[in-house]
Amino acid sequence: MSKTFYIETFGCQMNAHDSEKVVGTLVSQGYSQVPTPEAAELVLYNTCSIRDKAEQKVFHRLQQFKKDHGKGKVFGVLGCVAQQEGQSIFEKAPHVSLVCGSASYNQLPDLLVQLESGNKRVTGLSLDTEETFETPFARRDNPHRAYITIIEGCDKKCAYCVVPFTRGPERSRTGESVLGEVHQLAMAGYSEVQLLGQNVNSYHDPSPAGWDFATLLRKVGNVSGMRRVRFTTSHPRDFVKDIIDAIDENPALCNHVHLPVQSGSNRVLDRMQRLYTRDDYMRRIEWMKNAKRNIAITSDIIVGFPGETAEDFEETLGLLDAVGYDSIFAFKYSKRPNTPALRYDDHIDEDEKSRRLAIVQEKQRQIQIVRNALLVGTVEEVLVEGFNKATGQWIGRTSQHKTLNFIRPGDSGDALLGTYLDVRVTRSGPNSLAGESVN
Ligand code: SF4
Repeated sequence: MSKTFYIETFGCQMNAHDSEKVVGTLVSQGYSQVPTPEAAELVLYNTCSIRDKAEQKVFHRLQQFKKDHGKGKVFGVLGCVAQQEGQSIFEKAPHVSLVCGSASYNQLPDLLVQLESGNKRVTGLSLDTEETFETPFARRDNPHRAYITIIEGCDKKCAYCVVPFTRGPERSRTGESVLGEVHQLAMAGYSEVQLLGQNVNSYHDPSPAGWDFATLLRKVGNVSGMRRVRFTTSHPRDFVKDIIDAIDENPALCNHVHLPVQSGSNRVLDRMQRLYTRDDYMRRIEWMKNAKRNIAITSDIIVGFPGETAEDFEETLGLLDAVGYDSIFAFKYSKRPNTPALRYDDHIDEDEKSRRLAIVQEKQRQIQIVRNALLVGTVEEVLVEGFNKATGQWIGRTSQHKTLNFIRPGDSGDALLGTYLDVRVTRSGPNSLAGESVN
């Protein structure tokens, strides 16, 4: 087998960063990455199974590519679908030779050796681990913002979620190892880090130092050269006020919190096994609203969870108003294997789920129009992330994680990428802001 590989990634930021680490591992084993599957001998798909659609996409990709160009290539399925489907992938897609879940990525060097020696059925599927996946080298795609995993897996049991079955039990990295990586990144010129985990709030440093998440956040925010620190994702039950106090104390900690609520109805939250009530959730929102900094709040919503009545749904709509989110990711409930919600016998019709999703999205659009208009006239610091040749505008990202397109006469091309500028907001829409540079 020649040592070229191609990797395609589906799903969340955790997967995107896992792929960066997988690439680092392969490169350290003598492989070189190529930009197309056609040019590769080893074709890897790092998969997502959070929704049925994402899973189907992977199998479609596997079939399609094999039919058109797959002759002589070695295929591997990594990530959540690999863990969920296990050995049965070999039956569904017999041309696959490697199936490896994220909890087994530390074994990748061994698994690669097995593949190279011609083994046609290589698996890494154990969830029984206390280790996190750490690599000496991760090949990061973005030159300014870096992802850092601080905690893997999840010990919660939300009734709709496959993660506890695909990513294994919660395990945190030591604070020392996280801080070491942040220092390295700062020295390499990165100015923004995003701390990742299925539930960063339950981070607990396994070393004797025993830092909790707010402590880690403060330490990372104090690393010289790091101008922006973000984190995702949070679970309301474990979200403590000290996190907001830390954000208030240090401008390097971005004024944006993503706090998934999923539903505004206590009855649905209970059936989802989310472990908090609407009041518990709103208390956390109050902490943010009372903070010294203007904290943007975003969330995830699931519509059409089994048994969600019209009244439950109305309560979710009411919650959108009560919080005034800066943006949300809204999804239709999707049946997932092994999850407790499958056992409910009051599943909602697909058309009704689609109808509710459209209502939520339109309501949120209106809220965003109002929220973004409040920023017109303010000056926001942006990290410059791109230049749009068609419009002649720079693309910036504010600390609140809003896109702010702006003009700055005299500069074009790549000149400003990765720099920080102050921009006056002159216009707003539901999904972005527009303005002009003031420095
Ligand atoms: S907290 Fe709930 S939704 Fe989030 S990963 Fe864990 S089980 Fe899934």
